[in-house]
Amino acid sequence: MTMTRSLAINEVVNNQQLCEVFLCAPQGGMRKSNRTNTLTLISDKTKLYDDKVVDDIYHYTGMGQSGDQKMSGQNLTLAESDSNGVEIHFFEVMKQREYTYRGQVELAGEPYQDQQKDQDGRKRHVWIFPLSLIDSKAKFTKLPSATDDKQELQEEFKEIQQVENLSISQTEKERLIKSRIGQGKFKKLLIKRECKCALCGVTDSRVLIASHIKPWSASTNEERLDVNNGLLLCPNHDALFDKHLISFNLDGKIVISQSLDEIDRVFLNINDGLRVKLNEEQLSYMEGHNQNLI
Ligand SMILES: [Zn+2]
Repeated sequence: MTMTRSLAINEVVNNQQLCEVFLCAPQGGMRKSNRTNTLTLISDKTKLYDDKVVDDIYHYTGMGQSGDQKMSGQNLTLAESDSNGVEIHFFEVMKQREYTYRGQVELAGEPYQDQQKDQDGRKRHVWIFPLSLIDSKAKFTKLPSATDDKQELQEEFKEIQQVENLSISQTEKERLIKSRIGQGKFKKLLIKRECKCALCGVTDSRVLIASHIKPWSASTNEERLDVNNGLLLCPNHDALFDKHLISFNLDGKIVISQSLDEIDRVFLNINDGLRVKLNEEQLSYMEGHNQNLI
């Protein structure tokens, strides 16, 4: 038996309908169903960064969220799909809870290993599966790749660097550079990682501000382009961090300037119990910052 009803290319279904068609589990990016002998692949554009589409071949990252990925379970089913008789069906999620059917896919080449960072920023080995759509009318959505992101960022930073040549005061220059970085591509990349003030619960992207942990003026060009040198904060916490009135220890615990009195601490929503959730690379940029507390 195969799928319980056929789906049209580009048909949009919800999660329940998807499960009813393939008789598969309601969660996971790779869903194997023994009852319909299918493997459903879900490419969630609201979450993934590392998948890419090159010449109509989709380079799909295998299963396993942290640590090295193993060639077993559903990864193995996909790797052997040209001989094991399992049908592979492909969905894209562009908006939460909407699954767009792109059709049946097949391996377009041998699966290969690559290095990616996991959710905690640690490097690990992953398996990549090159896939092509069987129906020639079907198309994958082209994804911006990490290299495109870096290029865009580089171009934007070149423009920002022009600010250095303006005949305005150093303070003005720094303010201008900060506001440009805070609203541009760098901010978009940070939001893609997690759209939330690293310290409190503010999630409205309209007010969140992106900053460099190691300041722009002290960073090398490579450090300026490194998203791990970025920190997304609400205006309140950004101002405190920018003015060195708060900083963080290398375990993420907040350090508060002695110059801030108890009442202001309450109104500014800071207390000694707060900590930021930062990966190791972000924390390594913090070292210089926390030595300059006012
Ligand atoms: Zn905040």
